[in-house]
Amino acid sequence: MDAKPPPAEASPVDDFAAARLLHPSAYPRAGRTEARTCTHIAVGGAVIGGGGFTLVAGPCAVESYEQLRETAFALKAIGVRLIRAGAFKPRTSPYSFQGLHHQALDLIARVKAETGLAFVTELMSPELVEAVTAVVDVVQIGSRNMQNFPLLRAAGRLKQPVLLKRGFGNTLHELLMSAEYVMNEGNDRVILCERGIRTFDPAQRNTLDLMAAPVLKSVTHLPVLVDPSHALGRREFVPAAIKAALAVGADGVLVEVHPQPEAALSDGRQSITPAALAALVDELTALAAAGGRELS
Ligand code: PEP
Ligand code: MN
Repeated sequence: MDAKPPPAEASPVDDFAAARLLHPSAYPRAGRTEARTCTHIAVGGAVIGGGGFTLVAGPCAVESYEQLRETAFALKAIGVRLIRAGAFKPRTSPYSFQGLHHQALDLIARVKAETGLAFVTELMSPELVEAVTAVVDVVQIGSRNMQNFPLLRAAGRLKQPVLLKRGFGNTLHELLMSAEYVMNEGNDRVILCERGIRTFDPAQRNTLDLMAAPVLKSVTHLPVLVDPSHALGRREFVPAAIKAALAVGADGVLVEVHPQPEAALSDGRQSITPAALAALVDELTALAAAGGRELS
């Protein structure tokens, strides 16, 4: 029998092949098509995925009114429009600082009103949807919850965009399938985020899979951010990783910034100061311009 295989483009892509080849047709909602090559997500004054390189920055966790306010105003002066700040923190140890919870949400609301900036915070469980969405502009699903399917479905019913972080032990195929879970519920404003994966080498907190950005962008129309902070775990390497993320075509970075990193209640070792980020802005602007892009 003359059984010629169908052309690759026309063949249905099974899960195994998709996992290896990341064919866009495996992702009915997140997959790139000729008609839909990139999605930009506008929130507050920030645009993610519009061709610019977006700086999303802020402390790992909300610690106090003063800390959040100082950080937010310093970042606003640099041009950052979307601030990250955790209220409910997923910590490895139950004895580590867990976040200020509802008090943190109140502080976010207060600093948001004072600065006019948009905020992203993590949603750890479906029961917290109401409290979190009453305050924030973007809802983060953390690495540890990337395959928490009830939570993904809940995120899919929100009106806010969802910042979906790659699990530290998950493939890009699994990340895209998690985006499908969110999008299937009706929310197609999903931002993907590479934040480092676990490898054999403890020299870095995780291993930044930088090529995740261009590989994902070849498959999906969704914007892709890189989180250099959780990937590297040490602040001295964060500037290099931000520049690298820009160079490989990521849509921006999610970076931890604290006015006094040594005194931070979580992730101080990987947090840079607002001044360190400010010192990078000129260089990033020039690098972006060299690639026909702008910092946003
Ligand atoms: C965070 O962004 O603060 C965080 C906890 O990140 P991740 O889920 O990637 O560990
Ligand atoms: Mn953190």
